[in-house]
Amino acid sequence: MTHRIRVVGLCGGIGAGKSTVATLLAERGATVIDVDAIGRQVLADDDVHAAVVAEFGNGVLDADGAVDRKALAIEVFASEGRLADLEAISHPAINRELDRHLTQLADPTESAGTLLVILDMAVLVESDLGRLPNGRGYREVVVVEADLEIRLARLVDRGMTVEDASARMAAQADDAKRRAVADHVVVNNGDEVELAAEVDRLFQQLTSDPVTSGARPVPDRCTPGD
Ligand code: ATP
Repeated sequence: MTHRIRVVGLCGGIGAGKSTVATLLAERGATVIDVDAIGRQVLADDDVHAAVVAEFGNGVLDADGAVDRKALAIEVFASEGRLADLEAISHPAINRELDRHLTQLADPTESAGTLLVILDMAVLVESDLGRLPNGRGYREVVVVEADLEIRLARLVDRGMTVEDASARMAAQADDAKRRAVADHVVVNNGDEVELAAEVDRLFQQLTSDPVTSGARPVPDRCTPGD
């Protein structure tokens, strides 16, 4: 028997509740892949490490020779175009790793049926992450939204300063851009009980309704391979 897998991209502005929704979906039986964590892991890959050093210099390495993400972030946000330079190195590596995970999940297993796979990713709208050739990447998108003041309050509760939280929000795609690619929207302005009910509804849709994939332009870059 082989699993069919239904791959869903999950995104949301910082503080909207994306990670909380991912956890609630996992509790209901979804397989969640933390794409941001893969992004951190690939920095240790030999080829990515070498390319980062060639592009950004030895100044982004720590005393042990590993990529220091804070030092790299300073370089990346120091001038325009540098984030794209980093993504040109890291995104193909992340997508290759994702492809490997998804291929493993689709391997023959004891049980048949459709496996719901959630790609938990901060950067979706802005990038080609999770868009794999031959339709193996995500085919539909869930966007978690919350009002700006509520997001700010949650982030401050989590220990962030208002300035830091506001700067991070400003650096991300805005709600309108995210909504434009959304097939499903979770509004998280209420308490955790209300969110759990929303996620129940979403899980039901994702496990029983046909794929509701909106028209979405194919990205310029599609990695790995073709
Ligand atoms: P990031 O991009 O930083 O990972 P995120 O969008 O994934 O942010 P979460 O980490 O899920 O956001 O949520 C931000 C904070 O708000 C967390 O501390 C979380 O526990 C809290 N939170 C999320 N949803 C709710 C809710 N409905 N009621 C109360 N607190 C919430």
